[in-house]
Amino acid sequence: MSLAVRGVFWTGTYVAVAVAPLVFALLGDSPPGRGFLIDFSVALGFVGLSMMGLQFALVARFQSANAPFGEDAVVQFHRQISYVATLFILAHPALLLVQDIGLIALFNPVTAPWRARFAVISTVCVLAIMLTSVWRRQFRLRYEVWHGLHLLLSIASVLFALTHIELVGYYVDTPWKQVLWVVMTAAFVSLIVWVRLVRPLRRLRRPWEVESVTAGRGATTTITLRPIGHEGFRFEPGQFGWITVGRSPFALTQHPFSFSSSAEADGRVQMSIKAIGDFTNSVAGLRPGTRAYVDGPHGVFTPDRNEGPGFVLIAGGIGIGPMMSMLRTFADRDDQRPCQLFYAGRTLEDTPFLEEIQQLRQRLNLTLVHVLEDPPQGWTGERGRIDQALLHRHLPERYARMQFFICGPPPMLDAMESTLAELGVPAAHIHTERFVFV
Ligand SMILES: Cc1cc2nc3c(=O)[nH]c(=O)nc-3n(C[C@H](O)[C@H](O)[C@H](O)COP(=O)(O)OP(=O)(O)OC[C@H]3O[C@@H](n4cnc5c(N)ncnc54)[C@H](O)[C@@H]3O)c2cc1C
Repeated sequence: MSLAVRGVFWTGTYVAVAVAPLVFALLGDSPPGRGFLIDFSVALGFVGLSMMGLQFALVARFQSANAPFGEDAVVQFHRQISYVATLFILAHPALLLVQDIGLIALFNPVTAPWRARFAVISTVCVLAIMLTSVWRRQFRLRYEVWHGLHLLLSIASVLFALTHIELVGYYVDTPWKQVLWVVMTAAFVSLIVWVRLVRPLRRLRRPWEVESVTAGRGATTTITLRPIGHEGFRFEPGQFGWITVGRSPFALTQHPFSFSSSAEADGRVQMSIKAIGDFTNSVAGLRPGTRAYVDGPHGVFTPDRNEGPGFVLIAGGIGIGPMMSMLRTFADRDDQRPCQLFYAGRTLEDTPFLEEIQQLRQRLNLTLVHVLEDPPQGWTGERGRIDQALLHRHLPERYARMQFFICGPPPMLDAMESTLAELGVPAAHIHTERFVFV
């Protein structure tokens, strides 16, 4: 199945699951309607809940479902669609109150029946998820703490909402509608068991260890991981993996890093990591022999899935990691298609792998355009940032036929996406990897 067809299939599946409770509620022997507003409010509640359940599937890293869109786009969708789901969920009680303000009594936790209490607790969980996600940095929540809270609140909100529906019993009163809810609840629970139990168990059986830790320029450390008792996996240059180092594979938080080594290597993988926070600062101090677990490969940011007559790689800072994997792989495959690397950094000290890139030019059809914001004295190369004029100066003729890969800080990615579009590069030839999911 082509990627486009798979994209349509998974989008259709998403929509079908989101509206499934609605269709089932309306079909068959529906109980007598209770007025448009109430029925509409229930419909929104059902769809909102279904979408909340689907949120778990969106971040469950299903490679085949994510491939047509790219993992970052799926996570982005997870984030954006949560606003819609929350709106639907909030509209449910709001419309009930519009219909009958007397129902406000259901919000009194002391006198309200349990079916209403569960609904209120579920909605409070949803609101807490939104607040802590949108303003995580303002609340000074560490990523790991936020992640744990996010998971707990999400599971709680769905389970409380399901209990509320069961206790209300309206629209779920016939046996086959009960079956639908049991199936949906079972699917939700299985998803959590799969992601949090089955997958970590599989990783436990396929351990890795840190073989070496090498410091590089620009606060970058490259770690080499070696598979223990298995042959590792094959990845495509530009892909990434989620790692857990020195902790159990059941640890809640894993960290995503692009592979920087050649995809033609012997089973070992390398990741080049810039120190920016708790985990990344600890990487330089890792000891060889430390146990690690790798979930991967993931991602579609790879020339192997986007073949072309040549490649333009645009890297900023540690965005050079996946590009190194591409260049090293091209060299190992003796791929002589033209390749142009635009490599931007603040200072010369901020640009790892420079010497190796210079050496790779002897094995590849590679042109390097090195751009420094704050260059040293006597610098004759490009200075400032990569912009339209700079690209125009260096891009080869008929550049629009080439495949463009961009990885770097988010503002750079945004700027490059619009600049390349203005330069007439088709959207299908522009590929980006965003290092920030959350
Ligand atoms: C697809 C992808 C590929 C990446 N490849 C590389 C790479 O090759 N080299 C590299 O140096 N960095 C890479 N990153 C970024 C790297 O994952 C984060 O810098 C790292 O996880 C930060 O962890 P920390 O504990 O040091 O920072 P923290 O202090 O915990 O967090 C700093 C910020 O990093 C982000 N972050 C933290 N943990 C995670 C996580 N588990 N998942 C997603 N974001 C997180 C959050 O926005 C957070 O605010 C990549 C990110 C993604 C999404």
